[in-house]
This record gives sequence, structure tokens and C-alpha cells, in this order.
Amino acid sequence: MPRVAVLSGGVGGARFLRGLVAVVDPGNVYVIANVADDAEILGLHVSPDLDSILYTLAGLADEERGWGRADETWNALDTVARAGGETWFLLGDRDIGLHLVRTQALRAGDPLSVVTARLAVRFGLRCALLPSTDDRLRTAIVTSPGERLAFQEWFVGRRHADEVAAVHYDGAESARALPAALEALETADLVVIAPSNPFLSIHPILAVPELRAALERRRVPCVAVSPLVGGAAVKGPAAAMFASLAGGTTAAHVARAYVGVADALVVDEADAPDAHAVAATGIQPIVAPTLMRDAEAAAALARVTLEAAVAC
Ligand code: GDP
Ligand code: CA
Repeated sequence: MPRVAVLSGGVGGARFLRGLVAVVDPGNVYVIANVADDAEILGLHVSPDLDSILYTLAGLADEERGWGRADETWNALDTVARAGGETWFLLGDRDIGLHLVRTQALRAGDPLSVVTARLAVRFGLRCALLPSTDDRLRTAIVTSPGERLAFQEWFVGRRHADEVAAVHYDGAESARALPAALEALETADLVVIAPSNPFLSIHPILAVPELRAALERRRVPCVAVSPLVGGAAVKGPAAAMFASLAGGTTAAHVARAYVGVADALVVDEADAPDAHAVAATGIQPIVAPTLMRDAEAAAALARVTLEAAVAC
């Protein structure tokens, strides 16, 4: 069984991981997750991408909404509103329970990785869930008029409506990679970049110098999966960001986001006409259905990704 290290954001990454753990031994899967979306909300440390992965793999996610837990209720937030607190960032009752435990542990001095590992065991995950770093790393968005916003202020507060002129990963330069994440990259038989938003989920992982260096000196294949289908995002601001930051939304634009770190890119059948342009970037195109409609489609995409590695 191959050991697989996966770079992942939230929803797209989580959907892919659900397929992956169905086709390889989850004990051989090491998820290196983005933490640059993390935020303090109402005094609680929220880790949206870690939690999307945790809830999805535990079978507790609200699949339709795309974040948070199924069967959620909002009583705590109603009280927050009544008490005059901030309610722009939605936190459900079930979700809050997790944030309470995490926040308490962090305040007591536990690193995020230790808290996360404990939560992963408690929620029945069999793969390793590794924050990319225990250090503070935060995405900031510069909008086209030049306004600088904290990531969640732009993403949730403004519903990612403002055009993005630049993205900064504050703290990345001095952040140390999580040792277990480095080890996962160094001992993996295969590295996968999940179909996550490159600018918001994958680049903040690669912005940690030790992680980028580890990926650049890999001797095993790295296969990325495109988050764009037919030049459009399945969900979220990825296509709009490709348009404003990279000048287009074709599969070749996605490939260029991963030059130097990926050997192959799985692109959707709808993007087959762009395959030659992907190849021109030096990254091998693999054309396959990439829409993860259900668990079976996600497992099929995971299989294609593993097979692509053999061909690299
Ligand atoms: P976030 O951190 O929750 O925003 O999630 P990610 O960064 O991990 O994933 C967001 C990306 O997942 C979006 O750009 C979507 O287009 C992509 N995505 C979601 N579902 C699918 C799918 O079924 N297939 C593919 N190829 N991409 C998907
Ligand atoms: Ca995210």
C-alpha cells in the first residue's frame, strides 16, 4: 500500500479525501492541511479547513451547505445576537463545542497539531490530520481598490464579492513546517495536491519555506487535481481569483499555479481541449471526470490520481 501525503484545503480537499480513504488504507494517508483561514471568532479559535476535513471524514458534515455540521442548530448564535455580540461569522451549536475544546487546549499551551491529532482520534479518523504549521499563518486579501482585509473579513464578511488584486500569507516566511508534515512529504510514495483553491488553500501551505523546499526536492511523483471544471469553480471564488490573479481560468492557468511542485495535473473532461496547453507548462495532463457528485465519484477520482502517479 502506498503512503500518500495530501496537501488540502477545506471542502474540495475533504471531498477528495473521502474518496481517497476509500481506496487506500487510511493509515497510510497523511493530510497536510491549510491553516491560513484560521480566525478568532467570539474568542474561539476556528480552523475552517481542519474542521471541514474532520467533519467530512467523520460523516458529520453538512454536504449541501459545504461547511459545518449536519443537523446544526443556532441557539448559541441567537443568544450572541441578543447579547449584542458579533454574528457575521456563523457558528452552529454543534460546531461551537469543538471550538471550545480546541480553544481551551490552545490557551493551556498545546500546539494546534496536538489538539488536532486528539480531535481526529476522538472523531474516529484513521488518517493523520496535520496542520501545515503550528505557527501563526494568516491569509490577507488586497482588493482591487487596494483595501487590505483579513481573509475571513473578505470571504465571509464580504461574501468574497470584492475583486482580489493580491494575496498575502502573513507569517509564512518565519513559520516552521510541522515536523510530521515534513516527514510525511519525505517518506511518501506519492504526493497529491487536492482539488482545492490554489491561492487560498495550497499556496499558503507552500508559502512555508520548509514545505515548499521539501516538495521541490521530492523524488516521488506529485499529482495535482484541478479545482476548476470547464473553467469554472464548483464552489467559491477560485475562478474569479484565477481571472484576476492569473489572467484566465483554463486548465493551463491551473497548471501554471503548480509549476515546480506538480508533475501531473488531473483535469476534467470538459477541459480536454486545454490538455496540450497544460503539457506545454511541463506538467502532464490527465483527463478524467473530476466532479465528485457522491462518494463513488470521489473514489473514482482518487483512483485516477493514484494511477496518474504511476505514469509520471
Ligand atoms: P475551502 O477551503 O473550503 O474553500 O475548500 P478547498 O480550497 O479545499 O476547495 C475549494 C475548491 O474545491 C473550489 O475551487 C471548488 O471548485 C473545488 N471543488 C469542490 N467540489 C469539487 C469537485 O467535485 N470537483 C473538483 N474538481 N473540484 C471541486
Ligand atoms: Ca478554506
